[in-house]
Amino acid sequence: MVTKGVDLFGYSVVLKRKQAVLTHSIIILFLLTVGTSYMECGDERMDRKLVTSIILLVIVGSAVAYFLVFSNVFSESEIACPKDGSPYVLTPIGSRSENFNWRCLQCDYCWRKTYPEDVYQRWRKAFLEPAFVRDYTLLYLGKVLQLGISDTLLRNWAGGKETPTGLVGCEVYVYWAEDILVTIKYPVVLPENTIYEIKVEVQGATLWEGSLYRRQFITSIPAPPVGAEFRAVYDYYGGVGLFEKGIHIIATSMDPSDFATVNDYWRLLKENETLKASTEDFISIIISRGDYPTGGYTIQVKSFSWLETYPTTFLFAINFTDPGEGVIVTEAFTNPLVLVPIGNLSPGKYVVEVHICRFILAYDAGKPVYTPVQTPVVEVWKESFEILEDNGSNLVPSSQP
Ligand SMILES: [Zn+2]
Repeated sequence: MVTKGVDLFGYSVVLKRKQAVLTHSIIILFLLTVGTSYMECGDERMDRKLVTSIILLVIVGSAVAYFLVFSNVFSESEIACPKDGSPYVLTPIGSRSENFNWRCLQCDYCWRKTYPEDVYQRWRKAFLEPAFVRDYTLLYLGKVLQLGISDTLLRNWAGGKETPTGLVGCEVYVYWAEDILVTIKYPVVLPENTIYEIKVEVQGATLWEGSLYRRQFITSIPAPPVGAEFRAVYDYYGGVGLFEKGIHIIATSMDPSDFATVNDYWRLLKENETLKASTEDFISIIISRGDYPTGGYTIQVKSFSWLETYPTTFLFAINFTDPGEGVIVTEAFTNPLVLVPIGNLSPGKYVVEVHICRFILAYDAGKPVYTPVQTPVVEVWKESFEILEDNGSNLVPSSQP
């Protein structure tokens, strides 16, 4: 079991280990020198055996102490920079070099190693202390994204845990040092499901906004790269009897949010559902809750990020709200759904991942109260699709094995 803060602790211990080794070497060398000079002088009939015993004791003692102190710590923080022991290391998750190419964000040392799967998974799923997330993020922004942030680990940070208003089951930390302000938010869930939402501001302006999920930094892009702003078309009636609960990939010849949602609009979109489209197609994502016998069931996109790895991932955080007891609802079938237009995509594989938070709506003296539904495991929906090169034929690309 990985405990909180082990990574941070592991770092300081590695430094101490180097110092300890050095100190012990000096002591042993000193004793050897003193011992030998005594024997050479033959002064006071120095007992040869005594000196040898002292030296042996020091060596054995050092080894035992060394083993006792460090063996426990290292079994828990096994992935660290081999050069300076820094825990601020990264591997390109989602690429072929995952758990093979490693980079230390502290000293820039790069190494190649495939760690055992259990060790690697433990590293990815570990809970990260907010202060660690702050430094990890700033090092990432400075070293990987080259955003001009330096001296991360030398700063004098102030701040800490904030008491959020109106946020249930969510932790908020705010840190500042000189002109940098870092805000970290995360829901109280299992460590492996924690998505840390991070905002970095410099001199009052947002420098970077994104999240950290299982050791992967995700830059939030409010608008897909096609240049369009993030748009979401919500509907509750048009999809009844058409869209099952889940993720639907739609490929049309033009942006579907451009034409009015008339008569057969949703039926037309349903007919264009596919998992294999071409570069010529305009891709949209529909997330549906499926049919409900009444109104009162809502869907809301909380965040949307575009994750540039292989395969490219569209990450949604979505809120589902159900009517609580006594809440008056419309007596008609509904299909709560959201359509998100993406645009034309380049050839390759894509993944859509939807993280769901559920709430129950009730009214307290006329005021809406949203109670989160606590689940031991975060509900995640997944779908993948493929975009093929449109070269006027249906030939399989020759690069495919
Ligand atoms: Zn390093």
